[in-house]
Amino acid sequence: MSSQYDVVVIGAGVAGILAAILSVKKGKSTLIVDPQTEAGGLLKTYSPNEKLHFDYGTHLLMETGIEELDNILLRDINADWERFDYLNSGHFVNGQLDTDTPVLNSHSLSQELYFQGSYELIEKTGHRAQQYTNCAQQLEQRFGSTFFKTLFQPAIEKLFHTPTSNLIPNAQLLFGLNRVKAFDPVSTRSLKEHPELSDILAFHSHTEGKSGRLSFYPKKGGIGQWIEQLINQYKQLGGKLKLGHKVEAIEVLSGKIESFIIEGQRVACKQVIWTAPLFPLLQMTGKLTTSGNPPEMLDSHLIHLLVDQAPQTSMFYFSNFDPKYDHFRTTLYTNLQGQPEDNKHRVTVEVFGKGNKLEPEYGAHILNELKRCTIFSQSTQLLGVFMQTQRNSFPIYTHSFVKQRDEHFQIAKEAFSNIQFFGKASGNLFFMNDVLLDVYQRIDFA
Ligand SMILES: Cc1cc2nc3c(=O)[nH]c(=O)nc-3n(C[C@H](O)[C@H](O)[C@H](O)COP(=O)(O)OP(=O)(O)OC[C@H]3O[C@@H](n4cnc5c(N)ncnc54)[C@H](O)[C@@H]3O)c2cc1C
Repeated sequence: MSSQYDVVVIGAGVAGILAAILSVKKGKSTLIVDPQTEAGGLLKTYSPNEKLHFDYGTHLLMETGIEELDNILLRDINADWERFDYLNSGHFVNGQLDTDTPVLNSHSLSQELYFQGSYELIEKTGHRAQQYTNCAQQLEQRFGSTFFKTLFQPAIEKLFHTPTSNLIPNAQLLFGLNRVKAFDPVSTRSLKEHPELSDILAFHSHTEGKSGRLSFYPKKGGIGQWIEQLINQYKQLGGKLKLGHKVEAIEVLSGKIESFIIEGQRVACKQVIWTAPLFPLLQMTGKLTTSGNPPEMLDSHLIHLLVDQAPQTSMFYFSNFDPKYDHFRTTLYTNLQGQPEDNKHRVTVEVFGKGNKLEPEYGAHILNELKRCTIFSQSTQLLGVFMQTQRNSFPIYTHSFVKQRDEHFQIAKEAFSNIQFFGKASGNLFFMNDVLLDVYQRIDFA
């Protein structure tokens, strides 16, 4: 059996779903293909039973500010969703919890280091180089040697599992680590008037410098409902979806992808939107000149905990940058939704690793870490643990990773005339709204 579509979209993550909606809206017959049985890619809700929901980390929706795009993405966001004009988030570093800002707080350092670091930060003003060869050099230039060595370097090396000198400039942006909290709120406000310091110093509270865009989270359940809404919208417009189906082969004629073999069936197409990793495309079409491996990535472990008491903080989520702790980001659903679920308090904790396996008792270890950070009281009891690992899901922006990624992208772009790349496949964007805006702005239908 064979079928034919104007557009085949590879990958049912947010990039693929948006691309497919835009395609059907243009009147193109469209098919999405994904080997996973559920759409959403990295944005899903895991339900161990029908009463419990955990997301793959924090995934709030935020307005893009582009009316036509928001009308698609937020079409079905109704009164069942919480609306936030800022995100109540914080961080933990040097043994201290800061519930006011997600940005590294230099006041967590000893007085001596704090004064030394603040002096260096101001002294560098007007003398910062603008070109850097690596992340270490860039951070040292931006923040001075003391803040770099005592705040940024330990945090970034904990998360990427890699020395900062091996990372490209701006790698720290993946963790939002581009500003520092220093001085006091009033001095910061006036120092931020200096153009150079404006993007180096952070406001002291997340209530200052709001983006003006609303964020959304469902009052009940998880963020996976948004994916269901988008998929319904796509299907209502006539779009087709093959989940749990693998592309087995790709037929190319005169530099054009003519068709895919999907579970023994031939699916012909005029145009391809590729949002999955590039490696399988290059491999299946014989375009890899060397026997290269896929780019090295981190595993993200998700530790979903159920506990008997509410958190001792009102934060929606916080990041732990302290290398003495395993965990990175913790989402506190009770605070996001204003209530527990099934009388239990849910938490998702992200931990990055490289090929390691988690033992069943790891959940208790993570709850102990959260108690040490004062997120939960010492008397909090663990009621359940669910663990998931997404292998190779988080990029490590080393020079060799970026070189390989760019080479693959160049080969793929030059090899086929009827394909466009977005999301994972286009490489240089990470955050969801950046990926969505890129799809909306660049997509082009023949
Ligand atoms: C741990 C972690 C935390 C994150 N936190 C945030 C956050 O807080 N805020 C934020 O804005 N962004 C965050 N992100 C980034 C965000 O998840 C991405 O921007 C977004 O999910 C990218 O969507 P995508 O469609 O490009 O990719 P994905 O969601 O990865 O979707 C790709 C799809 O392609 C499919 N696929 C793979 N191989 C094939 C194949 N051979 N054929 C067909 N299909 C295939 C996959 O199954 C998947 O469904 C986070 C990412 C990670 C890993």
